[in-house]
Amino acid sequence: MVSTFSYAREIPLRGKTDVIVCGGGPAGIGAAVGAARAGARVTLLEQYGFLGGMATAGLVLPFGDTQPAVARELFDHLEARGAAHGWDYDPETFKLEANELLLEAGVELRFHSTFCDAMMSGNTVEGVVSLSKTGLEALPCHVVIDCTADGDVAASAGAEFSKGRSDGRMQPVTLMFRMAA
Ligand SMILES: Cc1cc2nc3c(=O)[nH]c(=O)nc-3n(C[C@H](O)[C@H](O)[C@H](O)COP(=O)(O)OP(=O)(O)OC[C@H]3O[C@@H](n4cnc5c(N)ncnc54)[C@H](O)[C@@H]3O)c2cc1C
Repeated sequence: MVSTFSYAREIPLRGKTDVIVCGGGPAGIGAAVGAARAGARVTLLEQYGFLGGMATAGLVLPFGDTQPAVARELFDHLEARGAAHGWDYDPETFKLEANELLLEAGVELRFHSTFCDAMMSGNTVEGVVSLSKTGLEALPCHVVIDCTADGDVAASAGAEFSKGRSDGRMQPVTLMFRMAA
């Protein structure tokens, strides 16, 4: 039996921005830089204290061979610091360079900020509710880009989704680790 608890409270409503990117992995980095360079005011929410997603937190390197402009630019910076060879790289330097790239593009970074709900008006997403040490905050915007890799925004907004293969089972996880002598 599932029991429920009804919960409602007033939370701060922040000023409206153009674009909110939820998730700071490779997809979120590219989306945020692209939108900011196109002239939008961009805020990026990331639940952890650094950028990179699976590329840093998950240690899933080398980076798959890819040519998107922002990834190429990031790797040019990493190579200039001796922190990348081809698509292989040092994840700690990746975090720093990704940070620089976003700040230089003018993106507002909000770390330790978890997307937790979509602000809906009918079928339209008009912002997000985020949770951080500040508490819950309502962040209105014109466009939300869901880069959580789990479709958190889409699911919260009521979009249909499926998980796993036809029988619902998922790919087994790979445990990535580093060794040093
Ligand atoms: C086990 C494994 C091995 C892989 N091996 C490789 C490899 O060797 N090479 C390769 O190139 N690719 C590899 N991949 C694929 C690669 O990891 C993905 O293609 C890539 O990470 C997708 O980027 P993304 O930004 O969409 O998602 P992610 O990298 O998952 O980033 C999502 C980001 O969103 C944040 N987030 C999630 N939910 C919320 C929320 N509610 N609020 C705020 N932030 C949130 C997360 O903290 C994370 O930073 C591998 C993947 C896995 C799982």
